[in-house]
Amino acid sequence: MADFPTRTADAPLAGGLTLETGVPGLVAYGSTFESLIDGLRHSIGRLAADDAPTRFGVPPVISRALLERLGYVETFPQLLGVVHTYEGDDRQWRELVPALRRGESWTHRHEVSDVVLLPAACYHLYPHLAETEFAEPAVFDLTGHCYRHERTAEVGRMRSFRMRELVRIDAPASVLDWRDGWIERAAGWLGSLGLPVTIEPASDPFFGSAGRLMSTMQRSEQLKWEVAVEVADGLDQAVVSCNCHKNHFSAEFGFRLGGGEAHTSCVAFGLERIALAILHRHGPDPRSWPAELRPDPGPTREEPIPDANVSRT
Ligand code: ATP
Ligand code: ZN
Repeated sequence: MADFPTRTADAPLAGGLTLETGVPGLVAYGSTFESLIDGLRHSIGRLAADDAPTRFGVPPVISRALLERLGYVETFPQLLGVVHTYEGDDRQWRELVPALRRGESWTHRHEVSDVVLLPAACYHLYPHLAETEFAEPAVFDLTGHCYRHERTAEVGRMRSFRMRELVRIDAPASVLDWRDGWIERAAGWLGSLGLPVTIEPASDPFFGSAGRLMSTMQRSEQLKWEVAVEVADGLDQAVVSCNCHKNHFSAEFGFRLGGGEAHTSCVAFGLERIALAILHRHGPDPRSWPAELRPDPGPTREEPIPDANVSRT
């Protein structure tokens, strides 16, 4: 892996932005960065209000069997992080500890577990929709810590990052309209935050020679669009991806809409990348960020905090 560039780490943990962990692609965040992420979460929530999405909390790992079933393991083996766990006994572990202390391999009694690291938030949703007959279109809102085994060390290309996704279940034609509406809405929103955007058809990094064909098909059918902004000098990256999955998930899990076929689309926001773009454009001082994203100053002295739900005896 290439050398990882040093990023600004101002006053670590006290109003800081980003903090190096020493591991390429793994970054920790200080309070200023986190308050920007909070501002983005609220702003995206307001943007999505018309969809009245159902929120869904997801863990940062996911069933391995599920990703095998969905084809992720086959198509993105290079990006997948697999969780291994120790399956030996106490005696075998005592034999391994000296190797561990000598800095030698200590993992040969580890086995692949039943979970892998989550590559995209929306994968958690589909099994919960299995065999559902939707009477009307539905939108879900999921945020998860995702992992991808990225092999470059470019700013904004992290191995662990937060993804917020809106997923719509709708009829084939209208799910595309919804996706296209979101390309415009996301671009307009980023523009209103002072970020010039480019909108382009894109493809996922499918693996190997079979993958190149899949990328070409995805691009020619315009199933994936990316809204990109500048995250560092001369470096544009996708910050919002708008995808149509057609019947990929509905066929696998047998969910339908109004007695007919359902298709799905998702809109995925990369929260750290958007935050990096805001910092790149407006600087680290929250007073120079768009008002929409500024941290809530909290109640002033004149406005006492209401003591709701506090019962006194
Ligand atoms: P890219 O084209 O940059 O590799 P992608 O096509 O793999 O991104 P998606 O799979 O569509 O991206 O992921 C949805 C969103 O998650 C992206 O629009 C981006 O904002 C964010 N994202 C993807 N990969 C990363 C990463 N390695 N680090 C930070 N954010 C990411
Ligand atoms: Zn998705």
